[in-house]
Amino acid sequence: MPIDATQPYDDQNIFAKILRGEIPSKRVYEDDHALAFHDINPQAPQHILVIPKGSYVSWDDFAAKAPDAEIAGFVRAVGHVAREAGMVEPGYRLLANVGQDGHQEVPHLHVHIFAGRPLGQMLA
Ligand code: C5P
Repeated sequence: MPIDATQPYDDQNIFAKILRGEIPSKRVYEDDHALAFHDINPQAPQHILVIPKGSYVSWDDFAAKAPDAEIAGFVRAVGHVAREAGMVEPGYRLLANVGQDGHQEVPHLHVHIFAGRPLGQMLA
C-alpha cells in the first residue's frame, strides 16, 4: 500500500532494517551518505535502489530537511552508482516515488535506477 509522505519517520521500515544490516540485500555500493542495492523485484534488466543513510521518509522530506552536504553526497552517490554500472551510455532512468499518488510503498527515501533496455517515454 502506498504511504503518506508526510508521516513521521518509522525506524522499523524495511530499508532502515537493510541499512542496519538486520535484513539482507544485494549491495552494490556504500559510502558515508548512501547505500545502493539491487531491487528484489526488478522492473528492468538493471534495477538498483539508492537510499540515503539519514532518516528521511521521502524525497520531499529529504529536500526540505537534509543538510546541503547530505544532499550533495547522496546525489553524487546516485551518479556514481549509475556510472560504475556502465549505464551512462546507452542511458538510464531515475525515479523517486512520493506519497499516495506517487505510489511510494517504503517510507524511507529511495531513488530507483533503471537501465539495460530502451525504457520508452514513461515507465508507469
Ligand atoms: O518506490 P516504491 O516505494 O514503490 O518502491 C519500493 C521498491 O522497493 C520496490 O521496487 C520493491 O521491489 C523494493 N524492495 C526491495 N527490497 C525489499 C522491499 C522492497 O528491493 N526488501
